[in-house]
This record gives sequence, structure tokens and C-alpha cells, in this order.
Amino acid sequence: MLNIILFGPPGSGKGTQAAILKEKYGLEHISTGDLLREERTQKTPLGLEAQRFMEQGLLVPDAVVIGMIGNKLDEKLAQVNGFIFDGFPRTVAQAQALDQLLADKHTAIKGVLALQVSEDELLKRLLQRGLTSGREDDRDAEVIRKRISVYNNSTIPVLDHYGAMGKSLCVNGEGSIEDISSALSHAINSLG
Ligand code: AMP
Repeated sequence: MLNIILFGPPGSGKGTQAAILKEKYGLEHISTGDLLREERTQKTPLGLEAQRFMEQGLLVPDAVVIGMIGNKLDEKLAQVNGFIFDGFPRTVAQAQALDQLLADKHTAIKGVLALQVSEDELLKRLLQRGLTSGREDDRDAEVIRKRISVYNNSTIPVLDHYGAMGKSLCVNGEGSIEDISSALSHAINSLG
């Protein structure tokens, strides 16, 4: 299976690029942000709990997110070539849980592609996205800064976790959508 983590800070283009790579490689796209927003729209207990964290730019507790991913893997595993994870894992505990869930299914993460984008560019892109995305967390510069700082403190260590296994690759996340997706495809093809 081709299981890829598309890694990067908020606003680095993970969602846009995952949608392209999903088609190209026939992967199932799993975005925990999208799954959580759907739960919130449906007003499920999980969605209502997650809401409190999301509106402040904080991470939803690991147990909630890991449970959600476990269900999704069980549901889709038999039907797909692999998964592209977007916005997950965001903590080392989530990465360890994902590794275990995949190992139980006799598969593993093949590579982590980390999109590199400067902080000024992220802030600009997110505020711009806030004009049209309907996402409250993209409209408030304070919440955006909080999300970037949570990324720097809690999520960057995930890259080291996979780096230690020789699975992390950095890709320039600035430029045209086509150039970035072509750089990502090269990186995927180099995974062997
Ligand atoms: P995203 O759409 O990936 O930017 O996620 C939006 C918000 O959902 C984040 O700011 C978090 O509050 C929450 N979230 C998404 N994915 C995760 C995750 N893997 N772990 C914890 N919280 C998450």
C-alpha cells in the first residue's frame, strides 16, 4: 500500500495538494480537519466536544482523533491502494498510534512529505482563505498565530519521529500549484 502523510503548517496547501495526489495515485484522502468539521456540522457529541478546541486554534485531544482515524481505516482499508493523511498525525502520540493501527493491518507509512512555507506567507494565505472558506478559525489573526505556534511546538516533532526512520522528505511549498504537485510526485516516486 502507498500510505503517505502530507505534512505542513496550516495554510501550507495540504488540502489542495492531497486532492490532486489522491486522484493521481488512487488514494483515499483522510483529513482529520474535514472529518471534525463534518462531526461539528452534524452536532454529534464528538463534534461538539471538538468545537471548543477548534475555535481556539488548539488541538482536539489525541484519543478523540485517534478513535476517529481507527474507524475510518477499518471502513476503507479493503477498498483502496493506500491513504493520504492530511492534518494527521499532529502529535507524536498520534503518530505512534497510527503506526500501530497500520502495523495491525500489516502495512505502514511509506513517506512523509513536508511542505515548506514561510510564516509570513502562511499568515497571508490563511487570512485570504478566511474571506471565502467560511472557516471562523481562518478569520482571526490571533487564532491563526495560535495554530502556527501549536504546529511548531506539538506537530514538528512528528517529522523527527518519521525522520528517524528515514521516511521524511521536505518539498518547497511556495510556487504554483502545478509546480508543487509535480515536486510532490517526484518525491513520492522516489520512495520506491
Ligand atoms: P485543519 O483543517 O487540518 O487545519 O484542522 C482544523 C482544526 O481541527 C485544528 O486547528 C484542530 O483544532 C483540529 N484538528 C484537525 N486535525 C487534528 C489532529 N490530527 N489532532 C488534533 N486536532 C486536529
